[in-house]
Amino acid sequence: MNIDTDVLIFGGGCAGLWLLDELRRKGVRALLLESGAVGGTQTTGSQGILHGGTKYVLQGIFSASAGSVRDMPARWRESLAGAVEPDLSQTRFRSRHCYLWRSDSWQSYLGMVGAQAFLQVKPVPLPDAERPALLAKCPGQVFRLDEEVIDTTSFARVLAERNRGLIFQIDAAQGLEFQVNADGRVTSVLIREPGGARELSVQVDRVVLAAGAGNDQLRTQMGLTANAMQRRPLHMVLVRGDLPQFNGHCIDGAKTRVTITADVDSTGRGVWQIGGQLAEDGVRLEPGALIAHAQRELAAVLPGWKSAGLEWATYRIDRAEARTADGSRPNDVQLLHEHNVLTIWPTKLVLAPRMAQQAMEHLGVLDHSSGLAEFRAALSTLNWPAPVLALPPWELQSTWISGN
Ligand SMILES: Cc1cc2nc3c(=O)[nH]c(=O)nc-3n(C[C@H](O)[C@H](O)[C@H](O)COP(=O)(O)OP(=O)(O)OC[C@H]3O[C@@H](n4cnc5c(N)ncnc54)[C@H](O)[C@@H]3O)c2cc1C
Repeated sequence: MNIDTDVLIFGGGCAGLWLLDELRRKGVRALLLESGAVGGTQTTGSQGILHGGTKYVLQGIFSASAGSVRDMPARWRESLAGAVEPDLSQTRFRSRHCYLWRSDSWQSYLGMVGAQAFLQVKPVPLPDAERPALLAKCPGQVFRLDEEVIDTTSFARVLAERNRGLIFQIDAAQGLEFQVNADGRVTSVLIREPGGARELSVQVDRVVLAAGAGNDQLRTQMGLTANAMQRRPLHMVLVRGDLPQFNGHCIDGAKTRVTITADVDSTGRGVWQIGGQLAEDGVRLEPGALIAHAQRELAAVLPGWKSAGLEWATYRIDRAEARTADGSRPNDVQLLHEHNVLTIWPTKLVLAPRMAQQAMEHLGVLDHSSGLAEFRAALSTLNWPAPVLALPPWELQSTWISGN
């Protein structure tokens, strides 16, 4: 079996899905191959905060990272309202805002003020009466930060449904073979049906690697330089039980000491994901030690914290990004364009629209609308298996520890 494509994308996280949607709307013959579940590894494992830059100006400097995300919350809001494409209005919000408070002196906040002048989303001081119960007795000022938190699973579902029929399941370990010509261009990709006997030869004009942590392996398979990527590990904490829907960052010095995002699990229980510095420090801790540390941290930073009757778990996950000289987070989206292969890392979920726009610019003018009807017809007759939707991290945990 054969099929001709203009763009073949690997990876169905936020980067691949947003780009696929752009290409389909432009009438490009684009196909996405996913080796796991739609929604990706990092995307559905993330905290889903649409950052507007505040956490990047904590040192009082308007950093390049703040500049790259500054316009993104407004861009997302348009899509989440269904006002512009992609229409993401069916995405569920976990919260419309986060709280911001400090566990150290607010003196260091003064340094942030100048840098915040350049941001679109700025912290708004909260009157005492409007504080959430957990922060009612917080000694310092509490702010509201209008950074939305989205349910990344529903975001992925919306994009997968809009692009139904264009997302194929593959077995990346056993079911992929690349044809590369003498100039280094990928000319075709042979895929084998997972659990089946069929083989499909996909002729490609351009290839986009949007496979997150899988990009390095794909690049090696295509004969491109390895080591273009870095992984920065996190060890996240989950807690479930009778918990309020609370989302926020506790700042200490120039760091986010803890970042809490809340949701409700499939049985109706409250669940929190806890990241920030806690998850960076947690990398060197075993789950039991990290949970004990998390319990102490929450008691220290949330004056209204009650820990009785809760269950705890942890998960390890890597942030996959383009390699930087010192191993720090890249300031912006990252693209590598070699021959007809584009490797992309969005760096943040919130940067997905910017990532798609820059990838479209690199892909250049794509106009093959003449073959579009044949392409769609060929795909529908193939009946190739589609990947399932990824679950949020708390639905993947089998071991929960009771703690007080
Ligand atoms: C714990 C955590 C919290 C975060 N919180 C936030 C946040 O609140 N806000 C924010 O803006 N950013 C956040 N981020 C960063 C953000 O999640 C990532 O930058 C973003 O999701 C990366 O998206 P992606 O599409 O590149 O990768 P992924 O979401 O990892 O998707 C890659 C996809 O490629 C697939 N794949 C892998 N190998 C292959 C292959 N060989 N063939 C085909 N498919 C393959 C995978 O199965 C996966 O579906 C967080 C990250 C982490 C880890």
